[in-house]
Amino acid sequence: MKSDYDVIVIGAGPAGSIAARTTAQAGLATLLLEKRQEIGSPVRCGEAVGLETLVKFIQPDPKWISAEIDAFSLSNPQGDCLVVPPEEQTLMLERKIFDRELARLAAEAGAEVIVKARATGLIKKGPGIEGVRLNVQGQPREAHAKIVIGADGTESQSPRWAGLKSIPQLKDYYTAAQYLMTNIDVNPRICQYHIGWSLAPGGYCWVFPKGDKKANVGLVMWVDPKEKKTAIDYLNEFVAARFPDRSILSQIVGGIPVTNVLPEMAADGYMAVGDAAHQSDPLTAGGIGPSMCGGSLAGQVAVEAIKAGDVSAKFLKQYERMWDAQWGKSYRRLYRIRHALLKVPEDKLSHIIRQASLLDAQTLSLKDIALIVMKSYPQLMLEVIPYFLGQ
Ligand SMILES: Cc1cc2nc3c(=O)[nH]c(=O)nc-3n(C[C@H](O)[C@H](O)[C@H](O)COP(=O)(O)OP(=O)(O)OC[C@H]3O[C@@H](n4cnc5c(N)ncnc54)[C@H](O)[C@@H]3O)c2cc1C
Repeated sequence: MKSDYDVIVIGAGPAGSIAARTTAQAGLATLLLEKRQEIGSPVRCGEAVGLETLVKFIQPDPKWISAEIDAFSLSNPQGDCLVVPPEEQTLMLERKIFDRELARLAAEAGAEVIVKARATGLIKKGPGIEGVRLNVQGQPREAHAKIVIGADGTESQSPRWAGLKSIPQLKDYYTAAQYLMTNIDVNPRICQYHIGWSLAPGGYCWVFPKGDKKANVGLVMWVDPKEKKTAIDYLNEFVAARFPDRSILSQIVGGIPVTNVLPEMAADGYMAVGDAAHQSDPLTAGGIGPSMCGGSLAGQVAVEAIKAGDVSAKFLKQYERMWDAQWGKSYRRLYRIRHALLKVPEDKLSHIIRQASLLDAQTLSLKDIALIVMKSYPQLMLEVIPYFLGQ
């Protein structure tokens, strides 16, 4: 490890590896730090990703694809089920291999990648940042850089170190639990969503197939201090009712901010990307594609800033504007739709799914759904219509 770089990226998830690859490809001296001893492990993800965003950054490779998805199903707790084609082609990943491949590509582009290297703070000079304090293999070290990119995921601390407000309110947090299960019979080409507040209060359950009778089975639910049961309790109930012969190969729990992005993602000499910047979709919490996109945009702005010799917050805020141009409108809409949906009673939600399941899925349109919602729970339509009209 050298002591001086142009850019240091904290965290080798999808956001960090893409950011590091972008700056290294442009010839900048780039250091990519990962606190864990193995990039990509343990996996804390359902591993479903849309192809459209993915192919902007990496060409699909069978070595990190576990299943190809043809359809999504939406079920209520009574078992009514609507099956629809996905908006875009969807893949199930092997994130252990995928994340490692992204880091390898960053290294191939010239970035120095080190594991067991935990950032412990930023080195500050006046309002700006001079580098990162870190702990490498148990030894304290310092590394200097003109720009630090914080890609340290959902439990990130780097935005706070840089002076950004990054702690969401409880209502803007999902708590998640997931099992990788085997010995279960599921259609290997359909991603299942199960909706009902009795299954997952304020969230949803999923069954995402991974081939060979395996699937990621998980749920997200809102964080409610009055709630007695944990996400794992709800997941155990969901699993016991549906997969009596299952075996569990791994278990994860975690939190996901669904706030829409941080109000500020850039500071002097610093940008936050991916989950560190709350770039997960505010409705579904899917974040692989958006994180890669955030990493790429921040990387591009870092290259321009170093070329211009200006790493001030004012210059780096270009990154926030670029993000907003691509994702801002849809994220604001999804955030408000999620909050409107939370007010719908479970029986009304179930009724909407049941009515939609009775129609022909091949010809089902948004207009049909809107009509069903209008008849079943008009308040929801009244709340979401302004968002679709762009307000
Ligand atoms: C249960 C669950 C299911 C999910 N399912 C899906 C899904 O199906 N599809 C989807 O698109 N998204 C899903 N997501 C979200 C998705 O996993 C994240 O949005 C995505 O991984 C974000 O990428 P990232 O690079 O920002 O962060 P991460 O992938 O979390 O990477 C951050 C990296 O930073 C490292 N790090 C942290 N702190 C430091 C430090 N101080 N120093 C050095 N390194 C550090 C971490 O070890 C980690 O490797 C899910 C999330 C959860 C919790």
